[in-house]
Amino acid sequence: MSATERQIVRLVRAAAPGEIKQTALLSRSTSSLQFTGLLSTSKHFEVASLESLVGIDLIVADKILVADGLITKEGLHGATLDAFLLSALSALNTGGVLVVREDLSSDASPRVTLPSLTDYVDVFRRDIAGKYVGFDFYCAEQVDSSIYLNGNYLDFVWILRKKEFTPPAADAATVTFRDFLDKTQYTNTGIGAYEWMFGKDFISPGGYDENIRVLEQFGGFKYGAKMLDIGSGIGGGVRQAAAVYGLQVTGVDLSANMLTEAIVRVHDEKDSRVNYSICDAVTYDFGENVYDYIFSRDCIQHITDQDALFKNIYKSLKPGGVILITMYGKGKGAWTEAFKKYNDQRFYHLQTLDEVKERAIKHGFEAVHVENMTERFREILTHERAHLEKEKVDFFKHYTQAEFDSLYNGWSAKLKYIEADNHNWNLFRARKPA
Ligand code: SAM
Repeated sequence: MSATERQIVRLVRAAAPGEIKQTALLSRSTSSLQFTGLLSTSKHFEVASLESLVGIDLIVADKILVADGLITKEGLHGATLDAFLLSALSALNTGGVLVVREDLSSDASPRVTLPSLTDYVDVFRRDIAGKYVGFDFYCAEQVDSSIYLNGNYLDFVWILRKKEFTPPAADAATVTFRDFLDKTQYTNTGIGAYEWMFGKDFISPGGYDENIRVLEQFGGFKYGAKMLDIGSGIGGGVRQAAAVYGLQVTGVDLSANMLTEAIVRVHDEKDSRVNYSICDAVTYDFGENVYDYIFSRDCIQHITDQDALFKNIYKSLKPGGVILITMYGKGKGAWTEAFKKYNDQRFYHLQTLDEVKERAIKHGFEAVHVENMTERFREILTHERAHLEKEKVDFFKHYTQAEFDSLYNGWSAKLKYIEADNHNWNLFRARKPA
């Protein structure tokens, strides 16, 4: 039983707590995964034999996608990938789990393969025996042992749970919330242009320097302690917390485009204090009493079920641990039509400072501190917009007029929302009782 097998079993149990009676292990002779003593009925199969299986609770496909040509130099091979996913769905019981383990360190373009494979499996839906089924995406996570033993940050496991879905409306543009994030606010060019605006490695107001100022609000760190960064984006905050404060940091983000960028960068840098998982911070099981610090920069306005998020955060924080979050929030002014549209397009769930405070207290946090940072937000937006104008020539070397207009107008609009006391920028800090 290796640590990698244990990591996979931990993720499977978290995604689907039911009993695992029948397991199918799809592997090559070189596979290191056996699950001996962990999963009693594991058997080895070739991919083609999956078609004849039914009633399976767990399928582990260990490094077969590249080996069998489902991922090629040209990218994903749609027809064979479709056939594989369809056979897996037919073989699995509802609630059963498909684990795909694939090492992308030899892939020519992991920046493309990682998000496109994640997208493929997340939105894959088919009618099977009268039911509309697909995979409920739990996570795509780095294999810890590959990081520590080989400096390989590109070895992944995807954890996918078979689920029955309601067919989408004919005009639905996106299938899941991850799909929505990756196709709207966090497209690849969008991320690049945002990073130009905010500064290297950051997709949040003020970039590197502002993030240091925000981290300082924790009031100091224990060297080597563990931090969780929720909605870590392209990884600026995670790498800063590790490199400047010596923390062990896990970054999670639901956007595959965002987190891929963070992962590829850390694969080049080899900072083993840092690891990542593409997952939804609301549903991922972080474990109990794990982190000394939980941090989140400007993510939680995206989250609908704030109570579920706070419950999850509270559970994973160690007793005495500290949480610090900045978020886009709402003020007390009547919403303008433009602000309503801005909010609806992004599916934001903006809260007032009072709402955040009440929720924190309701979930058991103590020493709750909230702070309105909107004036600082105004200063930053004004500075960033002026910088865009001044450095136009550099911007146009990389991006188009349309992207310039979108950023310039977006920053100007936010300044107007602040003026109307619609848009706020809020900070929340609290402690889990010791
Ligand atoms: N914190 C990063 C930074 O400072 O550069 C990124 C901030 S960006 C404005 C917000 C991030 O939250 C996005 O990368 C988005 O994908 C992520 N996010 C939104 N909903 C999420 C969820 N439910 N779970 C995890 N991440 C989420």
